[in-house]
Amino acid sequence: MPRHPATILGLALVSSLAVPACGVLGLDADVLSIDAARRGFEVPARPVIVFYVDGLRKDVFETLASNGEMPRLRRHLLDRAASVRSAVASVPSLTYTNAVSMLTGCWPSSHDVWSNVWFDRDQLLTRNYDDDCERADSDLVRPSMFELYENDLTASVALPFKRASKISLASSARSAGRLAWLSWAFNRKKDADRILAEQMYEIGEQARQIGEWPAFIAVHLPATDNTGHEEGCDTEKYRKAVANLEAGIGEVLETLANGGMLETLTIVLTSDHGHHPTPRSFQLDEFLNNELQVPILHAEDNDGDDSYLDRFERYSPQRGVLITNGERVASLHLRRGESWRERPGLEEILAFPGGAGREGSTLPDRLLNASALGLIAVRDGVDAVRVHGRLGVAAIERERVADGDVAFRYRVLSGEDPLEYRRDARLASWIDEGAHPSREWLAATAELDYPDAVPQLSMAFDHVRSGDVLLFAAPGWGFSDEYAGGHGALAREEMLVPLYIAGPGIRSGAEVPAARLVDLVPTLIELVGLEIPPATRFDGVSFAPLLR
Ligand SMILES: [Zn+2]
Repeated sequence: MPRHPATILGLALVSSLAVPACGVLGLDADVLSIDAARRGFEVPARPVIVFYVDGLRKDVFETLASNGEMPRLRRHLLDRAASVRSAVASVPSLTYTNAVSMLTGCWPSSHDVWSNVWFDRDQLLTRNYDDDCERADSDLVRPSMFELYENDLTASVALPFKRASKISLASSARSAGRLAWLSWAFNRKKDADRILAEQMYEIGEQARQIGEWPAFIAVHLPATDNTGHEEGCDTEKYRKAVANLEAGIGEVLETLANGGMLETLTIVLTSDHGHHPTPRSFQLDEFLNNELQVPILHAEDNDGDDSYLDRFERYSPQRGVLITNGERVASLHLRRGESWRERPGLEEILAFPGGAGREGSTLPDRLLNASALGLIAVRDGVDAVRVHGRLGVAAIERERVADGDVAFRYRVLSGEDPLEYRRDARLASWIDEGAHPSREWLAATAELDYPDAVPQLSMAFDHVRSGDVLLFAAPGWGFSDEYAGGHGALAREEMLVPLYIAGPGIRSGAEVPAARLVDLVPTLIELVGLEIPPATRFDGVSFAPLLR
């Protein structure tokens, strides 16, 4: 819940509602309108607009589109677009993590905004972006699209982060300063749509005053995710929230079409993660305290402004710090010695919290006593991860191969494959061949229940903010009794996102079998020919050649 609306309101750069729009054809004054003959602004050579619909399940969206419930979205976008059959979000499948991955082309472990809530054992601090979204702007260490477009006009609408975005809209005068995501938080979905319309009007107004349409616009639509949490993504209300995109995005596309801009624009529709119904809830902190009987702090409040001494005194007595990163994922940070600085090794994690009477029962075994927990991932040094499930235990090992590249080996250590990949005989024999590169794992598992989990679990632990153990909720379970739905774990319906791209040079109907959300930035840069600093590195790979 946002707690500092006043500071966020300050981000709206120009309030131009008082200035009458040229080119408005007698329509309602605060709906974006573009007269193709007299636009009032220059359009850059290859403008991009990204519609980022929060928590949009690909299957629900596609069913509605194919049922004819989204005629404008189909006509102006889907029927003209190329798409990715299985586009996967980054682990953990949470909003801040993936909003930043979507707009930097980098993994959470390399952009540093590791999850919505995290603990950092080196700095001894807890960060919670849900309570203070401004922090994401300063925590982000990789350049976002707004920085890569540094010489062009850019705009963002209600984004979870917006550093360097030149026009940054979060509110409008007509809505009395209410933010789109405040409306979303208070369940006023119609308001959220109306605010989107107003913000697009604002962009049009500012473009006319500046004389230039933004080269890059990213628009965040939060209402679907909110409905997924409040009602569950298997409900009629969620379906209606998705169908409502026809009103919000459909209206904007129609205006752009009437303004003669549709053919020039590269238009993306995607999401940060999917959604998963969670009718059952589980109190993880109570369970851990009962099960482990050592001091474990369930940290959730921002404390970066407290003095180091205060934080030192807060965390020093704890044997563990539990972070509920999101509704279906949590991380456990364990202290092995006197100081929080040293990370525990595999044997120390498995034996945690030590003491007598628990020989033979490892920490993951004890965690899996809770039916709410489905998979437990344990860090095993720098290059290995253990995956524990009820079916069995497996190891992911990362190997350095030629040219600084890496490959991942996956071995079942006991019982059956916890990720269930080996149920497919062909995949099992491919796995047995040895280590495979990251992109091959993506291609081999994109259609399965845990898409891309082998390379992504390995890389998730590359940041200290991941903790030592990741706890993923079992199907149907969430870590809060407030919500009927959530995301953050590894299941297909929360990891998969829709990804459509339409624009000049893109073949309508082209389908890329598998890609990652981190591929979007390098793809867009290649599609529009944006010149970027040569040292810029992405974790994603452009799939632009497959769209032509
Ligand atoms: Zn969410």
